[in-house]
Amino acid sequence: MYTIIKQLEISSAHRLSLSYSSKCENLHGHNWIITVHCRSNELNTDGMVIDFSHIKQIVKDKLDHQTLNDVLPFNPTAENIARWICDQLQPSCYKVEVKESDGNTAIYEKD
Ligand SMILES: [Zn+2]
Repeated sequence: MYTIIKQLEISSAHRLSLSYSSKCENLHGHNWIITVHCRSNELNTDGMVIDFSHIKQIVKDKLDHQTLNDVLPFNPTAENIARWICDQLQPSCYKVEVKESDGNTAIYEKD
C-alpha cells in the first residue's frame, strides 16, 4: 500500500448558516491548513498514487482567496469542506483534515 500526504494553506472567507446564534454567521476569514491523505495498492502508469499538483489544483484553484459560500453548494463548515475535498479526489483520497485555526480541526474519513 502506498500513501501520500499533501498539505496546503489557503486563505478564504465563509459565513455559516446555523440553527443557533453565533458570531460564525458573520462573514470572517481563516488561513486554513488542509491536509489530504491518499492511498493506493498500485501506482498509476506515472508511478504515483496521485499527482501532488492535481491535489493542489483541486483545492487551491477552487477555494483559495474565495468566499466559500459563493463557490461551494453547501454550508461551508470545516467538516463539509473536508468531505467535499475528499469527494473530489476519488478513488485514492481516504482522509482530509481541515484546520481553521489553532486547536480547531475537522477530519473526514471515508468508511
Ligand atoms: Zn470560520
